[in-house]
Amino acid sequence: MAKTHFSLIAQDRIVYEDDVDMVLLPGSSGVFAAMSKHAPLMATLQPGEIMVRKEGEEDRFFAVGGGFVEVRPDEVIVLARSAEAAEEIDIQRAEEALRRAQEYLRSPEKERDIERRLAMEAALRRSLARMKVARKRAAVRARGAERSAFPPQQESQEEASS
Ligand code: ATP
Repeated sequence: MAKTHFSLIAQDRIVYEDDVDMVLLPGSSGVFAAMSKHAPLMATLQPGEIMVRKEGEEDRFFAVGGGFVEVRPDEVIVLARSAEAAEEIDIQRAEEALRRAQEYLRSPEKERDIERRLAMEAALRRSLARMKVARKRAAVRARGAERSAFPPQQESQEEASS
């Protein structure tokens, strides 16, 4: 399968870069897939999840805090406000940020400062995206551990007959 070159760039670092088969992106008007030979486009991203698929490897997940994407036939470039690979996410930190944002958005203060309110709404959505991506990874790992603890029926039959 023809590959596309994907770069995920945050403000201070390149979070991921490789030739991949497909990238799923949280566009502001909905999730969309980008792959080789995609028609050129530029779009804004909302806080959410990026999934990267590469043949022969497990799917990779990233949390993105919004940004821009440029798609070309042979390349996908994301300039992210923030981005973390699933394994880099500190869930406790995301939960604390979520709690702070929720507290502010429940308080009467939110009516007085629209800029702060918008910032807190964005912080809330970043935290939710981080929690979703980190929890998904934890669930995938737990399923993997379960499988190795309880090998599939077929394998145990083969073992029994050998
Ligand atoms: P916080 O209030 O916890 O700082 P935030 O959403 O305001 O959260 P950002 O401004 O988006 O944080 O990010 C600042 C830096 O910290 C970025 O490099 C980002 O990748 C990283 N970061 C933020 N939250 C987390 C997290 N929960 N786990 C890992 N890295 C994080």
